[in-house]
Amino acid sequence: MRIVDIREKSVDLSRYADASIPSGGLTTSIVAVVTDVVRHGKPVTGYGFASVGRFAQGGLIRERFAPRVMHAGDTNPLDAWTAMMAGEKPGGHGERCVAVGTLDMALWDAAAKIADLPLHAHLAREFGDAHAVADLPAYASGGYLYPQDDASRLPREMQAFADTGYRRTKIKIGATTLDRDLARIDIAARVFGADAVAVDAMNAYDTDKALTAARALAGHGLLWFEDVCDPLDFETQSKVAALYEGPIAAGEALFSSAEAKLLDRHGGLRRDRDILLFDPVHCYGLPGYIAIVIAMTERGWPRAAFWPHGGHLFSLHVASALGLGGVEVNPTSFPPFGGLSDGARPDSDGRVAPPDAPGIGFETRADLMRLFATLG
Ligand code: MG
Repeated sequence: MRIVDIREKSVDLSRYADASIPSGGLTTSIVAVVTDVVRHGKPVTGYGFASVGRFAQGGLIRERFAPRVMHAGDTNPLDAWTAMMAGEKPGGHGERCVAVGTLDMALWDAAAKIADLPLHAHLAREFGDAHAVADLPAYASGGYLYPQDDASRLPREMQAFADTGYRRTKIKIGATTLDRDLARIDIAARVFGADAVAVDAMNAYDTDKALTAARALAGHGLLWFEDVCDPLDFETQSKVAALYEGPIAAGEALFSSAEAKLLDRHGGLRRDRDILLFDPVHCYGLPGYIAIVIAMTERGWPRAAFWPHGGHLFSLHVASALGLGGVEVNPTSFPPFGGLSDGARPDSDGRVAPPDAPGIGFETRADLMRLFATLG
């Protein structure tokens, strides 16, 4: 395929289903990658978006990476990725890794559509299907602290996740007092059971707060304790791991296989229980993510330890194709990007499957396609 046009814009983003609730001014980038391949009278177009929970990458996409894809000539996603990374020095990932990951998502969407396969099947064919699975465990992610009415909104949110069929959830901690966080965990545990509730501190804790929280959470038997401290503060994280026996989850804000190896070497993580959250879009897209999976499995990590961050259909396809441990789903957060296809639900065991539509299947989501349509 040849890429004949790339369109990009920044859009506002909310952590909450109700976008009127203040959400820190979050934005993200959406892109459309238009190919020279025509199907049903229209050019095949791939769509992508940047991280949910960070900010838009428009400058980097427009000025640096989209032109390189446009100049790549007849290409495929792997060659386009090589073209995007030409001249880029290792390290200093900044926001560039997310800009590349955004375009990479759209390139894979286009390539799978051209192959007339859902992305998970296209990836399994491209990279070998020895590990591919049809469906996998999921958790409903949300539980952000509501600036108002949290005590009544949080239980409703948890119950709605359970009613939709999710069997596990993840809520945020670290944005209020520890006592209040413990009360919020109780709310979620009453719906799901404590062993099905993960907590995500969003990298908020310093060393003292991390150790205090770890001691307070230790007896709760939680699903996992995520993003404990600064992503590169391996000293604090290893101290927490030394006293917190339950699973710890890390890696969402690490962007390369070199950083992943540092996490493994210095982060105190335990291969028999801990969770690796690396996000394919954060990690320079699929080539970067696969490099991390290879690096960590070669060091003895099981594939089941990988639960990619993201909460959207792209992460779901990747986890399915690579046979990973499970996936995050954002049923209501970050509309219209999070969640499954319109009307899709987990099965009776809380497992989810990617859609069968060609590509990533964004076309199975009406709100999202209305947003992509604004790219022209
Ligand atoms: Mg997290």
